[in-house]
Amino acid sequence: MAFLPCDIGPHRNLGRNVSLYASVGTGIHMDRWSWRLCLRHWDEIEVGLAQYKVDPDSGAVSTATDERLCLACGQPVDEGGRQVFVTCYPAQNNREDYWSRIHDEHSLPGFMPKPEWGR
Ligand SMILES: [Zn+2]
Ligand SMILES: [Zn+2]
Repeated sequence: MAFLPCDIGPHRNLGRNVSLYASVGTGIHMDRWSWRLCLRHWDEIEVGLAQYKVDPDSGAVSTATDERLCLACGQPVDEGGRQVFVTCYPAQNNREDYWSRIHDEHSLPGFMPKPEWGR
């Protein structure tokens, strides 16, 4: 049991925390952020990320299309663009990975705001 603020809000979180880590970039330069989330805010992010979930066995992304869609706007990302890697630990010993693209001009989507203190 933790008594720590959720990074979205921020508000006190008396329950369990979910850790989320994101890397966004081109491979040469990656920006990284981490979040400590309450379960309610994790649920909202999980919905937004659902179509980009990586199958742990096949490594395939669960999106129904082969197009590389932007995490922020949902439109195809042609040449260029950055990659988005997300790893989270919704429960102990349970890891989930997500992979997407994002247009160069877009920042992280509204459902996944950068933590204010930029950890
Ligand atoms: Zn929260
Ligand atoms: Zn976009």
